[in-house]
Amino acid sequence: MRNNLRALYELQEIDLRIDGLDVERGQLLAEAQALEAKLVEAREKISSRREEAQALEAEKTGLEASLAGESENIVRSESHLKEIKTQKEYQAVSKEITGAKKLIAELEDQILQKINTLEEISGDVAKKEADLSELVENIALQQAEVQRKVENLEGGIAADVTTREQTIKGLPASVLKRYARLREQRRGVAVVEAKEGNCMGCNMHLPPQLYNTLFRADDVITCPHCQRILVMRQELEAK
Ligand SMILES: [Zn+2]
Repeated sequence: MRNNLRALYELQEIDLRIDGLDVERGQLLAEAQALEAKLVEAREKISSRREEAQALEAEKTGLEASLAGESENIVRSESHLKEIKTQKEYQAVSKEITGAKKLIAELEDQILQKINTLEEISGDVAKKEADLSELVENIALQQAEVQRKVENLEGGIAADVTTREQTIKGLPASVLKRYARLREQRRGVAVVEAKEGNCMGCNMHLPPQLYNTLFRADDVITCPHCQRILVMRQELEAK
C-alpha cells in the first residue's frame, strides 16, 4: 500500500501542476483574445469615422445641388427683370432675387462648415490609421509571445500527462475512482499530508489513534473531517 500512497501523492502533485498549467493557458488565451479585440475596436472606430464622413459628403452634395438651384433661379429672375413693365412686378422679382442671394450665402456657409468638418475627419482618420498600423505590428509581436508561452505550457502539460499515465498504472481502479471523486468534491485536492497531528487539507486535528495508524500507512486512510486521503510525508520519503 505504501507504494500506492506514494503513487497517489505523486498523482496529486501532477494533477495540481496540470490544473495550474491549464489555468495559465486559459489566461494566455484570454490575453490573446483581448489583444484581438483591441484591433477590432480600433478598426471599428476608423470605419465609423469614415461612415460619418460619407454622410457629411452626401449632405454637402445636397447643399451644393440646392445652391446650384438657387443660382439658376437668380439667373432666371434677372433675365425676367428686363421684360418687366410695372413697378409692382419689378419689386416682387427683386425681392425674390434678394431672398435667393441670402439663401445662397447661407448655403455657402453650410457647405464651408461641412468642408471643414470633412477635413477634420480626414485628418483624424489618417492619424487613426497610422496608430492602427503601429498597433497591428505591436499586437503581432505580443501575440507571437503569447503563442510561444502557450506552446511551452502545452509541452509541459503533455509531459505531465505522460508521467501521469505511468503513475496511475499500478493503482487499483477503485482507488483511482475515489481519488477522482474527491478531486471533484474538494476543488482539485484529494490527497493531503498529515502533519503534527493535523490534516493539511482542512487544518482540523486528527484523532490520535488515526494519526498513529498513519505511521504504519498500510491502507488508504481518509480525514474524518474533509474525507481527503491522508499521507505521511516521512513515510513517503523513507521509501
Ligand atoms: Zn481534512
